[in-house]
Amino acid sequence: TSEQPADRPVPVRLREALAKVPAYSPGRPPAPVEGMTAYKISSNENPFPPLPSVVRAVADAAATMNRYPDMGVVALTQALAEHLGVPAGHLATGTGSVAVLAQLVQITCEPGDEVVYAWRSFEAYPIVVALSGATSVQVPLTADARHDLDAMAEAVTDRTRLVLVCTPNNPTGPAVTGDELRAFVAKVPRDVVVVIDEAYLEFTTEESVPDALAFYREHPNVVVLRTFSKAYGLAGLRVGYAVAQEEVATALRKAATPFGVTDLAQQAAIASLAARDELMVRVEQLVAERERVHAALVEQGWDVPAAQGNFVWLPLGEDAVPFAQACQARALTVRPFAGEGVRCSIGETEANDRLLGIAGEWLHSRE
Ligand code: PMP
Repeated sequence: TSEQPADRPVPVRLREALAKVPAYSPGRPPAPVEGMTAYKISSNENPFPPLPSVVRAVADAAATMNRYPDMGVVALTQALAEHLGVPAGHLATGTGSVAVLAQLVQITCEPGDEVVYAWRSFEAYPIVVALSGATSVQVPLTADARHDLDAMAEAVTDRTRLVLVCTPNNPTGPAVTGDELRAFVAKVPRDVVVVIDEAYLEFTTEESVPDALAFYREHPNVVVLRTFSKAYGLAGLRVGYAVAQEEVATALRKAATPFGVTDLAQQAAIASLAARDELMVRVEQLVAERERVHAALVEQGWDVPAAQGNFVWLPLGEDAVPFAQACQARALTVRPFAGEGVRCSIGETEANDRLLGIAGEWLHSRE
């Protein structure tokens, strides 16, 4: 018969580049512990439930989900263009900013070309780069967990096609300053695309943190990447976008999966832009919680880097995984990076308090 026994798969040719693609380890759902509310602070999600107006927009859109969405994402693009003060032709949407990032790699890199970015940074970077067959050039963060933009500029070669700047940096927290960014962009050749990943922009409070759109306006090779997943609380719907000069934005739209952004996601994003003031009040509350958590950790004696996103970084080194296990035992899911540290998102007040309790005990048990 033509049926294959399950234990004898037919060898097929897959791309060699796949061997170099690291696995993404997403935050797991919280494991229940008897008598405790479980909390997940491992994926930098927004702990607030969606606004009723946004739920209504999604419900209305659900009534026509037998139809394909608007492939041009016209209404959302128009709303974004007005909100940001950029031409609609300079926008490209995607199924989360991570998809737009993958499109950016596709439109710039041939196999063997180089993508320069700081490390440790967002774990999707090495994945999308390796998948395209390009080569990652990872530039270590400084001792205080910041981008070393001088070293990154020096790492640019003739093969570099893309440079990624994650600000604030996931998972460590610091943001680059406007002065640093200005000096950096001036050093990068004008035909190399500089992506400024501002997934957490809305949470920044330091005066020195720029709005990267100012750089896109001055430098045609600068692309700004943003998302509805964090401050806008739409992580589950997958919608993000890039702001770029026309030629780049057009190429990004070409590289997108046809009909990728669903109508539910498009309508939710439009409703969220309309409810921006309400959502930014929540962001202010999360920022206040971040400041409270950060100050308490410093008070306890932790060496926590500046936190400009909706998360804090505990540089635990070899203790990262044991610390995450201690949290798990208390029904709290955090995100360990083995041998490096633990990233904890700012969540519900009770989740944050539980984290502070565990963190305090951890230091005491090691005194
Ligand atoms: N950039 C950074 C720095 C992130 O941390 C994330 C989410 N973890 C993203 C981009 C991707 O977000 P999304 O695909 O949900 O828009």
